Amino acid sequence: MTLAQLGWNDYFAQAFAPHAASGHLPARVTLELKGYFEVTGEFGAKLGQCTGKYINAAVTPAEFPAIGDWVTVSPQAGDEHRMHIHALLPRRTKFSRKAAGEQDLEQIVAANIDTVFLVSAFDGNYHLHRVERYLAATWASGAQPIILLNKADLADDTEALQREIAGAAPDLPVFVVSAQTRRGLKALAPYLQPGMTVALLGSSGVGKSTLINRLVGENLQFTQEVREDDNKGRHTTTQRELLVAPGGFIVIDTPGMREIQPWIAEAGVRAAFADIITLTTQCKFRDCSHSVEPSCAVQAAIAAGKLGKARWLSCQRMLLTLSLIHI
Ligand code: GDP
Ligand code: ZN
Repeated sequence: MTLAQLGWNDYFAQAFAPHAASGHLPARVTLELKGYFEVTGEFGAKLGQCTGKYINAAVTPAEFPAIGDWVTVSPQAGDEHRMHIHALLPRRTKFSRKAAGEQDLEQIVAANIDTVFLVSAFDGNYHLHRVERYLAATWASGAQPIILLNKADLADDTEALQREIAGAAPDLPVFVVSAQTRRGLKALAPYLQPGMTVALLGSSGVGKSTLINRLVGENLQFTQEVREDDNKGRHTTTQRELLVAPGGFIVIDTPGMREIQPWIAEAGVRAAFADIITLTTQCKFRDCSHSVEPSCAVQAAIAAGKLGKARWLSCQRMLLTLSLIHI
């Protein structure tokens, strides 16, 4: 497997550059086990363990690798199946949740997902606010949301729902599909190019597994054998969590992503855009719309190059969705 096939690109190459001299290799976290990771690189798939130095230096749970992360590794002496994990490369995108425990600590559910298909279905179990919350979680992650309305075969009229969604998420691509009849699936090709990492979010029963099977190819299963404990020679069958489809795109499907409850989105959003939320409190006018007002802290930050326009746009959309601040 080449790094490009695993989703490597210029962003990660640049992030890796300072590590190149160490002789360590880049690898992607393709599975999370208890205390171990499966790391896949040009050397194949091996078991990775964070070094003691890594563990000692990590202050928060978010600093540990998660599915989809890129890390730097080196072979463990005397065990050809194991690698040391030395460092985590910066994440392009990340889905977070609150770590277990009382402190409000961030834990990473999945990293470096490019595109998220937000799946709803024409099955009478649709709620706009749920889509909005998933949307908020996706904006907070930094990934690009795409809306899929599945089970079109069950609907007489697909347009009313399409209109409602378009109202809640203007400018977002909306696709009406049926995993059963394959209607509309070809149109997703631009988001399923080699090296692109995608995930599906949506309530249970909307058809995510069926869609993945259709998009990836029927006979390709997520189930795989993993050598979990070399010393005892045990092999365990686990769910694969990151899969390279024959078409070249990469799917991340972890229980963690599936369990992302829409209610956690708000905390995620606040965390992801904390700096901007602070900025909005520094405008001269309390009812600033952050567009044309004089002494607008947001516009000043954009003009100074401290805040990217695209990020502000994401933030604006999401804050509107959640009504966290007045815009
Ligand atoms: P998940 O929980 O989101 O992964 O949903 P599943 O993929 O398990 O699908 C839930 C149910 O919906 C299954 O019985 C599927 O066969 C069915 N289903 C999935 N896609 C479609 C579709 O396009 N049309 C219809 N009629 N049923 C579908
Ligand atoms: Zn302002």
